Amino acid sequence: MRYCVNDECGHFVGTGNRAEFLDHVDQCSDCGAALVAQQPPVSPVDADAALVALESFRTVHDAALARSRLEAGGIQSWLKDEHINNVLPWLTTAVGGVKLLVDERDLIEARNALRGDATAIASTSTPSPANSLIPIEAFWLLLVLLGMITVTILLFMRAC
Ligand SMILES: [Zn+2]
Repeated sequence: MRYCVNDECGHFVGTGNRAEFLDHVDQCSDCGAALVAQQPPVSPVDADAALVALESFRTVHDAALARSRLEAGGIQSWLKDEHINNVLPWLTTAVGGVKLLVDERDLIEARNALRGDATAIASTSTPSPANSLIPIEAFWLLLVLLGMITVTILLFMRAC
């Protein structure tokens, strides 16, 4: 068995477990890092650290901005579901946005560090109506467009 030792690996950030691969695989399919034969320590901080979601963001960009604010304040943090946002952006709302994770013990300090940060949006535990309405609006727009096209074709055929 071979393992991905990258602490930023999407699999590790998302599950807390190192990605495992068969012996003939050389590269992590999640992050592209080179694999090693020995499994490294599981936790990115230490054994009793628990990661909690500090905030959710609609884009990786916003999450990265908030993360850099935390790091400027010396608080370690991780992103969760950032790869879904990169690959399937329309699923971001469904998975609850890009989560910014911090060590439980840094939670209060991290909240203070983000307070007043204009890029942080409200937690997606209460999804904003504007965001959840987008697919419905798109559906009606499509319906109206189809109707207009049909009417145009019918009128054109009558004129001929
Ligand atoms: Zn990896």
